[in-house]
Amino acid sequence: MAIREILKYPDPRLRTRAKRVREIDGSIQRLIDDMVETMRAANGVGLAATQIGVPLRVAVIEPRDGQLIVLINPEIVKTSGQRRVEEACLSVPGYWGELTRSEVVVVRALDRNGREFRVRGTGLLAQALEHEIDHLNGVLYIDRLDRPEDLHRVEAEAEEAAT
Ligand code: ZN
Repeated sequence: MAIREILKYPDPRLRTRAKRVREIDGSIQRLIDDMVETMRAANGVGLAATQIGVPLRVAVIEPRDGQLIVLINPEIVKTSGQRRVEEACLSVPGYWGELTRSEVVVVRALDRNGREFRVRGTGLLAQALEHEIDHLNGVLYIDRLDRPEDLHRVEAEAEEAAT
């Protein structure tokens, strides 16, 4: 496993719309392992492959220890409700924003063994699912702010949980 460099805004590769994974081979397994290691080293809640310059639809999410979710070709099948959240991103260091996300998000994806599964998220998991799938479409949370004033600089050393 290896820690990969996380691309930072405004790197144009963050705007790539990632392609579907056609075959889950050894290179995808290594990619997943590297993404998990990179996410954990950065104390992130999630990481999308586009954030390390790999334009494939792969994301990892770990909203809390022991709850690692690997998503290959994820698709949002249902959302409901809305709530205001605070959000940050490993690719936009030094900032956090206030935006509206869904209360409940249901996603269908393949796991690392190629089996289809569904995950239903609320709270931080719902937020991370939307955030990471946005990344795979070249979208950053800063695109979803209602007003520029909703973007804030991180003060002191207390970094927000970042995805
Ligand atoms: Zn992010």
